[in-house]
Amino acid sequence: MSGQLTISRLRKQFGGLVALNDIDLTFDEGELVGLIGPNGSGKTTLLNIVGGYYAPSAGSVHFAGQRVDGLAPSRLARLGVGRSFQVTKVFQRLSVLENMQVSALTDWKISRSDAREQALQVLESLNLTRLAHERAGRLSGGQAKLLEFGRIMMLKPKLVLLDEPFGGVHPELKRFMYDTIRTWNAGGVTIILISHDMGSIFGLCRRVVTLSYGDIIADGDPETVRSDPAVLEAYLGDHHAA
Ligand code: ADP
Ligand code: MG
Repeated sequence: MSGQLTISRLRKQFGGLVALNDIDLTFDEGELVGLIGPNGSGKTTLLNIVGGYYAPSAGSVHFAGQRVDGLAPSRLARLGVGRSFQVTKVFQRLSVLENMQVSALTDWKISRSDAREQALQVLESLNLTRLAHERAGRLSGGQAKLLEFGRIMMLKPKLVLLDEPFGGVHPELKRFMYDTIRTWNAGGVTIILISHDMGSIFGLCRRVVTLSYGDIIADGDPETVRSDPAVLEAYLGDHHAA
């Protein structure tokens, strides 16, 4: 089986609704791929399966040579799969630093003091040092997104799944997030990025996969996908599209 991440005949149904319709996709190590499609097309469902939050109804996911569909998110995190959420998920009552340490402690080989040391370094690289002892629940939306990035970095990820990371983020922070994504990718990390922000997708990604009603309707370089009639048609009437 070739590719770092191989999705085969993947199907997800919620009752009678087919959210993913037997899709096949292969991602090579170090790819930075945009995942687009109208609302409800199955993007988040796909990341939820790859990230271990849902088991598929049928089909399989292999990562780094191992079958991973149905594994718990914590197991996947230990294999190097990190993810951010469309609705940011941080521990509201813990401090920023504690949130970061929790993420590292999914790796049981690391000591608490090493986790703290690593967390401080990552916070520094994200310009969040001054907020280390702030409760995460007090962060702005953008700062919470950055904290999610920090938690991903604590995993030393091989694959990062980003679900709408730029929603509601102001332009300066967005540029910082672009730089962070590019730095991860330059270090060989594979990234799958969902965004409605076409400027971000086409600016960052050299491959764009398009979903519509659970089917892949386009997969290729940005220029080709952008002018694909099937993609344009899927987006007509989708008011979130840029
Ligand atoms: P996208 O992220 O592309 O907007 P989703 O993957 O969230 O789309 O949703 C795909 C389809 O699956 C939608 O019709 C949505 O309503 C449905 N869906 C997603 N999650 C669930 C769930 N937990 N239970 C029932 N239906 C769901
Ligand atoms: Mg979604």
